[in-house]
Amino acid sequence: MENEKKIWGRMPEFCGAFLDASTLPPHEGLEVAFIGRSNVGKSSIINTLFNTHKLARVSQTPGCTKALMLFKVVENFYLMDLPGYGFNKQPKHVQKQWVKAINSYLVKRRALSHVYLLIDSRRGVLDSDKDMVSYLNHYSIAHTCVLTKCDKASSKDIQSSLTSLKMFLDTKCTNTLPIQTSSVTKEGIEPLKKSILSYVGVHFSVRV
Ligand code: GDP
Repeated sequence: MENEKKIWGRMPEFCGAFLDASTLPPHEGLEVAFIGRSNVGKSSIINTLFNTHKLARVSQTPGCTKALMLFKVVENFYLMDLPGYGFNKQPKHVQKQWVKAINSYLVKRRALSHVYLLIDSRRGVLDSDKDMVSYLNHYSIAHTCVLTKCDKASSKDIQSSLTSLKMFLDTKCTNTLPIQTSSVTKEGIEPLKKSILSYVGVHFSVRV
């Protein structure tokens, strides 16, 4: 418990922005990765986890983050902020670069322990989200869906997202129900932290 407070209560160290997974530092310990459509609220949720405004840039411009952003949380526990998808205005070469970077990261990164796929509860599960779930299922990549901005969504919207995600549930790589969150009200943040620690927690000892 004391260790948990120390993990979430301090600012992770920014290890760098990488355009390609092959340029990432050799893995050490375990990583969890966050991915979702541009503007889904990914930076906000990462900042909320660590109780800061500075960690991941809260971008007002969709598609701003195009690199793989690696953070060291504590010894042997890393967090990867993956570039957002579903922003059609990106030039073709940027989209291609995104696909290459994501493919090589998700499929080859041996340190990857779990993926958190963020879905905007107000917008529901869009085609690009469905493609991402299918991709993760196809490669048997363990993941949990996280509904964001639940403070702004009606219970009908949330229900409809949950129903649509259920259809994609593949017990090979998803054994948990979606976590409902809000960076504004902090709903779901504690369950999200618990979930993350369950995927990395047993493998590291915290040096404080
Ligand atoms: P990213 O592009 O996925 O990193 O998304 P951001 O974190 O930059 O958020 C995009 C926009 O959604 C910003 O205007 C945020 O203030 C807003 N936002 C993010 N999370 C929440 C939330 O939980 N509730 C509400 N109401 N707005 C949010």
